[in-house]
Amino acid sequence: MELERLATDILILGSGGAGLFAALHAFKTKPGLDITIATKGLLGKCGCTRMVQGGYNVALHPGDSVERHFMDTMEGGKWLPHQELAWTLVSTAPERVRELENEIGCFFDRNPDGTLHGKAFAGQTFDRTVHKGDLTGIEIIGRLMEQVWGRPIRRLEEHRAIALVPAKDGSLAGVLMIDIRRGTLRFVSAGAVLLATGGGPTMYRYHTPSGDKSMDGLAMALRAGLPLRDMEMVQFHPTGLLAGPDTRMTGTVLEEGLRGAGGHLLDRSMRRFMADYDKNLERATRDVVSRAMYAEMKAGRTTPHGGLYISMGHLGPEKVAKEFKGMVERCRDCGFDLAGGLVEVVPTAHYFMGGVICRPDTSTQWPGLFVAGEDASGMHGANRLGGNGVANSTVFGGIAGEVMPRWIAANPGRPAPDDEVLEHEMSRALHPFRCKPGNLNALRERLLDAMWDDVGVMRDAAGLKRAIETLAAIEAELLSTGIADDDHAFNMGWHDWLNLRSLTEVSGVIARAALRRENSRGAHFRTDFPEPGELATSTFTVARLHAGEIEITDEPVEFTHVKPGESLIEKRVAAE
Ligand SMILES: Cc1cc2nc3c(=O)[nH]c(=O)nc-3n(C[C@H](O)[C@H](O)[C@H](O)COP(=O)(O)OP(=O)(O)OC[C@H]3O[C@@H](n4cnc5c(N)ncnc54)[C@H](O)[C@@H]3O)c2cc1C
Repeated sequence: MELERLATDILILGSGGAGLFAALHAFKTKPGLDITIATKGLLGKCGCTRMVQGGYNVALHPGDSVERHFMDTMEGGKWLPHQELAWTLVSTAPERVRELENEIGCFFDRNPDGTLHGKAFAGQTFDRTVHKGDLTGIEIIGRLMEQVWGRPIRRLEEHRAIALVPAKDGSLAGVLMIDIRRGTLRFVSAGAVLLATGGGPTMYRYHTPSGDKSMDGLAMALRAGLPLRDMEMVQFHPTGLLAGPDTRMTGTVLEEGLRGAGGHLLDRSMRRFMADYDKNLERATRDVVSRAMYAEMKAGRTTPHGGLYISMGHLGPEKVAKEFKGMVERCRDCGFDLAGGLVEVVPTAHYFMGGVICRPDTSTQWPGLFVAGEDASGMHGANRLGGNGVANSTVFGGIAGEVMPRWIAANPGRPAPDDEVLEHEMSRALHPFRCKPGNLNALRERLLDAMWDDVGVMRDAAGLKRAIETLAAIEAELLSTGIADDDHAFNMGWHDWLNLRSLTEVSGVIARAALRRENSRGAHFRTDFPEPGELATSTFTVARLHAGEIEITDEPVEFTHVKPGESLIEKRVAAE
């Protein structure tokens, strides 16, 4: 197949909060640069930032502080976060929220005195989650999209990145992608590349992220030899909607604020079971509530579709309908009355804390490659606080947009790609056209089950080893399974195949990292190693592809701001 070519200064992969902020900041930093956003979906309509419901964590309110936000992030992350990254996140969030309101044009909900309203989110010691009702992401991504449209920034919509391509000397040359509409291959050479494809653990039976996310970014990074951190850390959100097997609405999230506002979780006999698991009841962190629900489900105390109930009616149906309008409407569409009745829910894979290792300025081990948003790792450690996800993508997307123009100025030129690698990657992408057509959906179902049953909310060595074997078998079958339609244009079968390949590859890394971590921290729970281990000697996992095999090693966490047992809040009070 013929290869189309394009050259640009800055190439941004993904158009979520990270990608769009990066484009705007790069344009502001150096307006003359040629900036290109390539995205798998339609700009402003794809990815998870648009799906953000609850809101954005930011320490802006009297009584709150950046130090308090930082400490909540450490405690929530079970002392595994990279402290410099977490500090950058919490200390830049106030600036980013002001920018969203004053420059980008977002309106967030306000208190009667005109200050920004902060709502309660589980696992936080202060109500700091700024929001627009319960559909905050539409406000953020809609306004960001308009700002990008208003500037001369090139948009390659429905372009799927498939490989990071080096030059012969190993430096980064650019990215190979598929123009999904036309089914053609295109190489984009770039001075700097931002990976912002948003992770997305869609390899679990129940999951929340948008369907365009299939871990492509992490699969590309892994193949390019980059180290990935915290890959065992998959966050499950406790309240995924359970609306039966035949609707994509199953798994979609009912926002955290429902539990924050006082919602009750009930088993099928209407018993409020959280008291058996945690003193914070439904307001415990996501990992704790998800595990409690999973244990109740394993014990068989389930609702008709195999989940549990959330009940809000005791808070007053009118109040619930007013405060959670979007959630109430979503449930009504599926036949449930959230405001006054019961809704069936199930833990659902929501966020991926693992990702590419990066520095606080978003640079990676590969000069010229930057990473931001859910593709990056380290900020959240073992557990992301609700509200820290969109803060993460907008904070670090903005930073990447400032850093990349400076990097290009210091490192001018665009090296030519290594043609051998390019040929190999093109052939890899076209592989399913050379195989006999088979049943891709059956393979997908096996993947969803293997990950849900053996690499899910609760894990043990036997299950993880079983999953590693199953995943290898799925991958081998995938490589001999082709697609029925040989027209490359808008061939969704082809893209399903590529999605499955990325998901299966990254699933293998998750299972191996989970097997390596022989303790239980945050989102990672081993029934055979239920203790968290010594906090002071905490380590994080690093995964690399070496000679075709995935290697997992441990590295010590550096406590550069605060050690376990200490608090920045006390330190600050003492200093004052
Ligand atoms: C239902 C839901 C509710 C959420 N609510 C909250 C909340 O209330 N508060 C909070 O803080 N966080 C929330 N999150 C998490 C939050 O949405 C994410 O952490 C954040 O938006 C990720 O931003 P991003 O820019 O990294 O990725 P995304 O916004 O997901 O964007 C990824 C982009 O990459 C593109 N892409 C993917 N693969 C490729 C490829 N191969 N080539 C090119 N482009 C590609 C996608 O099309 C998309 O444009 C929620 C997530 C979900 C799913």
